[in-house]
Amino acid sequence: MARITVGAAIPSRSKPAAALSPASSAWRSAFRRRLVAWYRKNARQLPWRETRDPYQIWVSEVMLQQTLVATVTAYFPRFVARFPTIAALAAAPEEEVLKLWEGLGYYRRARQLHRAAQVIRDEHGGEFPRQIEAARSLPGVGRYTAGAVLSIAHDDPHPILEANTVRLFARLLAYRGDVRSAAGQQVLWSMAEALLPKTASGELNQALMELGSQVCTPRDPACNACPVAALCPTRAAGLTASIPAAQAKMQITAVREAALLVRRGARVLLLRREAGERWAGLWDFPRYAVDPDAGPVEQQLTEHLARDTGTQVRIGARLTTIKHSVTRYRITLDCYAATHVTIDPNTGATRTVAWVTPAELVNYPLSTTGRKLTRLLTGKNGVSG
Ligand code: SF4
Repeated sequence: MARITVGAAIPSRSKPAAALSPASSAWRSAFRRRLVAWYRKNARQLPWRETRDPYQIWVSEVMLQQTLVATVTAYFPRFVARFPTIAALAAAPEEEVLKLWEGLGYYRRARQLHRAAQVIRDEHGGEFPRQIEAARSLPGVGRYTAGAVLSIAHDDPHPILEANTVRLFARLLAYRGDVRSAAGQQVLWSMAEALLPKTASGELNQALMELGSQVCTPRDPACNACPVAALCPTRAAGLTASIPAAQAKMQITAVREAALLVRRGARVLLLRREAGERWAGLWDFPRYAVDPDAGPVEQQLTEHLARDTGTQVRIGARLTTIKHSVTRYRITLDCYAATHVTIDPNTGATRTVAWVTPAELVNYPLSTTGRKLTRLLTGKNGVSG
């Protein structure tokens, strides 16, 4: 069994919590019993909990990374209806996968899911691999995802650790160190391993995540409704506000960008985002970072566009400004109307472009801002064509 390190001694007002700790098998047995009883009564009904199909569980786990359950609940059924098997997903064009992912964000997840489906088709006979190491070698599948899929689908005894269980375990261990550090991760993974039961690991893992997300929340955990409150040293010590330790705030960078709605008759210009770019594989209106020290914006935009596509344009009015965030960047995006003048075939431009009617835009996977500009184009703002 994994060794568990219990956090620094905390003066306890609670006899049971003081008498037992996660290092004792009595604590762990009591914990599992209470947790599973609570989960059977309180588990939310979610579409991916109605199946033991490893493929569908895998899809849900990938979608749930960095996306809210309520959002995934809308996307998941549509995705597995269109791609009901790994073979169907592997055979689909990447653009169709991205189109179904549109709006979920973090598109790298979709590209890796698609790529991993092809690896499973080519190297694992079309079945999600049962060996944990083989699962972990798939694109985008780490220790957590592999453990979650194999434990939930097959009850294989693999531990899991994600944001909710990190917080839950830190509190159950009264762990005051940095939960992101290598030492912190080792302590928490050891806790996850030690808690695994001999059978039904899938139910326990799901119950842990459910308790973390629904009861042991980041702010104001519902300790009074918690089935394991009597076993929790952090609650006994009144330290729920300071465990786990707060993370350093992310440094935010402000960025100015500009997009062009270039018209040629009834059509507008789209660019396909390339590998290595933000939103790779999606389509977007031509869009560039603007350098405030590099001359007029209009001149910068015409030069960028001519270099990328060979298209010469005349830039018109600013149509709108959109503010949005991507990871640590706060982006202010100014959107300009532009009219196509000519295309110079001798510039050596290699970008993949498409001239599409506003009605055809619905068929292209677009970024969220691309979709907003589409609404501007097709909607009420007097710029429709
Ligand atoms: Fe979390 Fe409170 Fe339960 Fe402890 S008692 S596990 S802090 S909800």
